[in-house]
Amino acid sequence: MIIHRPQSAAEAVQIRYASPDTTAYLAGGTDDLRLGGAAEGKELIDINALGFDTIEEKDGKLYIGAQVTLQQLVESDLIPAFIKEAAKFCASFAKRNAATVGGNLALRRDDSYLAAALCAAEAKLIALSAKGEKEESVYDYLKGSCKCLLEYIVLDKNREGWVKRFGNTSSSHAALIAAVSGETYALSVKGSALACSNTPDLYETMEFCDDLTGSAEYKKYLAKTVFTLRR
Ligand SMILES: Cc1cc2nc3c(=O)[nH]c(=O)nc-3n(C[C@H](O)[C@H](O)[C@H](O)COP(=O)(O)OP(=O)(O)OC[C@H]3O[C@@H](n4cnc5c(N)ncnc54)[C@H](O)[C@@H]3O)c2cc1C
Repeated sequence: MIIHRPQSAAEAVQIRYASPDTTAYLAGGTDDLRLGGAAEGKELIDINALGFDTIEEKDGKLYIGAQVTLQQLVESDLIPAFIKEAAKFCASFAKRNAATVGGNLALRRDDSYLAAALCAAEAKLIALSAKGEKEESVYDYLKGSCKCLLEYIVLDKNREGWVKRFGNTSSSHAALIAAVSGETYALSVKGSALACSNTPDLYETMEFCDDLTGSAEYKKYLAKTVFTLRR
């Protein structure tokens, strides 16, 4: 296995963009280092020595380093409660302790622990691409396919909301994860494209499929009714 150890974010990005099909960043390694993971057979670019592992507050915003683990989110006094709850959807402490926020987003999974909550929170990210640093919404990033290096996730410190997960068990793939914050609604549904909007009627424009997590009808029913639930 070839592992690159860049000394700066710029160097990491340079290696990644030079061979986009045969490299992957190595963060917590929970996906990269498993058989059948997205990075199987690829050269790894270890980004763990680049910093980006702190949670800081500045002018009412939280700057969450992409290398912050899901467990760090749970333990932080700064992180809004519903974002912590989303991090806890990763039921295994061992995995939470290794898996990073950046790795979770970069995998662009349809059952991502964090995607719905961060989209509902209207979080943005700061990322480095071959063209330089950019800021974009988490939702736009997740819809795209760029190979940029995630550096920080930025959200309002006092953001409130709720998040709810439906799955057969806490360790199986989620059929649906819904999140609301302010007037923003977001849905991650297994087998469907991530949806985010200012209306709860997201299900109307979504396509649903049958799979191991449930039937299309079941997932559509959940998507239609979940936002009427209140804690
Ligand atoms: C058994 C099992 C079940 C899982 N179930 C779920 C699940 O239900 N929901 C879910 O969301 N995840 C799940 N995962 C996936 C994974 O554990 C998490 O999503 C985790 O957060 C990935 O983070 P990591 O730091 O370990 O990433 P890594 O494994 O190190 O990296 C994963 C990918 O992210 C990219 N990446 C990492 N950091 C960055 C960065 N800063 N910038 C750009 N790209 C980056 C890498 O290129 C790599 O391809 C599961 C994994 C396993 C092994």
